[in-house]
Amino acid sequence: MSNIPVYQNYINGQFVQHSANYIEVMNPANGDVLSKVPSADKVEVEQAIHAAKQAQPEWASRPAIERAQYLHKIAEKIRQNIDRFALVITQEQGKVLSLAKVEVNFTADYLDYMASWARHIEGEIITSDRKGENIFLFRKPLGVVAGILPWNFPFFLIARKMAPALVTGNTIVIKPSEETPNNCFEFTQLLDEVGLPKGVFNVVCGSGRNVGQALSSSEDINMISFTGSVETGSVIMSAAAKNITKVNLELGGKAPAIVLDDADIDLAVSAIKASRITNTGQVCNCAELVYVHAKVADEFIRKISDAMASTRYGDPQLDPDIEMGPLVNKSCLNKVASMVEQAIAEGAKVATGAKVADTDSGYHYQPTVLVNCHADMEIMRKEIFGPVLPIQIVSSLEEAIELANSLEYGLTSSVYTQSLSQAMRAIELLNYGETYINRENFEAIQGFHAGTRKSGIGGADGKHGLYEFTQTHVVYMQN
Ligand code: NAD
Repeated sequence: MSNIPVYQNYINGQFVQHSANYIEVMNPANGDVLSKVPSADKVEVEQAIHAAKQAQPEWASRPAIERAQYLHKIAEKIRQNIDRFALVITQEQGKVLSLAKVEVNFTADYLDYMASWARHIEGEIITSDRKGENIFLFRKPLGVVAGILPWNFPFFLIARKMAPALVTGNTIVIKPSEETPNNCFEFTQLLDEVGLPKGVFNVVCGSGRNVGQALSSSEDINMISFTGSVETGSVIMSAAAKNITKVNLELGGKAPAIVLDDADIDLAVSAIKASRITNTGQVCNCAELVYVHAKVADEFIRKISDAMASTRYGDPQLDPDIEMGPLVNKSCLNKVASMVEQAIAEGAKVATGAKVADTDSGYHYQPTVLVNCHADMEIMRKEIFGPVLPIQIVSSLEEAIELANSLEYGLTSSVYTQSLSQAMRAIELLNYGETYINRENFEAIQGFHAGTRKSGIGGADGKHGLYEFTQTHVVYMQN
């Protein structure tokens, strides 16, 4: 305990000694205390915002290709430290090491990808109605961006915020989740080594109520790019409303997987199982429920129940072969357990699992399949964020889509069918930001990750995600 690292906020190119309270970061697989991190106050947030604001004009004045070189250098350093970062993520978040390595590699690729946009940030010349006039549309940085992060893919989300922000000429203040801040401080140490100009990238750690709220209500922040729950997104939006600050909100999901009567059942089973156990079900875009066609329901339920029951889980550091680690903390474990109890009380039947796992330590929940579920149950409407799969039987694609479109979230959805016309009909009718046909739910760097309804405002990735970090400036030039 005495040898644990004590991390410091990173403000204006320096790790600044924090004098007040610290938060202890725990390993969810065994309860060990891993580090202490600052519980920052409003003053430190203001210092970070000030540094970012001071640094922004000079940073924006540099050619984009020069800004991009820093991102490439950081990506290179990340690739030299994959095992180190993966271990830090696994220890504080609980995901299996193989997935942590995927996250680290994906982060490096993301930095390189966003850097590659440096020569493609393009304005427009618009035809004028007037003789001798040109209308120019410039794309300019917003100014200072606040990046507020969740704990489920904590490392990747740093890059998802900072890479498009920096390449387009913004500066940034990052607030990592207080559950999983260690990887962000380790990332920052590495970033410090590449010599990024002072104030371009800042990190302030602390509670949502203090640090998150101070960032969201600051008049010197030009966009809040937030990933997290719908409830927090709503609080942030209210705080931002005071200054009419732009928000970019990546919120929760309740991804329906629709398995039709002509689906390749084995493919659906393996993709949906992977979706439900990856990161212990704590993934915003992964299958949260199934609508299965009555004609294939028996076969699907038998196979998915066997597949889920066979999941190997435990402490990711003790056994590299497991498929699933613990949930991130006790309150998430309690929430999953109480949602399952409620579903059973409402009439769901247990096909497998449905209990807190009997392990020596760690916040483990058994991989679970619930059948006899119907649309009124809480478990069919609220995000579970755990390894639990509720299933409802439907009699047609249209019924499944009507149910899917009635959910309050609209992030991702998936459809399993071998019929092109059923797939096309689903694409036409599903009111979702993202749909996967006959494959697992996993977005691409060059796509556009965005939700409808309460799943968010705006999106991330690709060209459209990049341009979220810019504002337009239209100029009418009369000769
Ligand atoms: P959360 O909303 O509890 O916390 C996210 C961040 O917000 C944390 O850093 C927290 O400290 C901060 N915060 C809390 N209260 C705040 C406030 N009042 N003002 C400002 N900031 C505040 O979410 P979580 O539990 O960390 O993450 C899980 C959620 O994130 C799930 O709902 C999941 O679906 C969602 N998520 C969405 C995406 C996506 O791309 N749509 C990706 C990952 C996770």
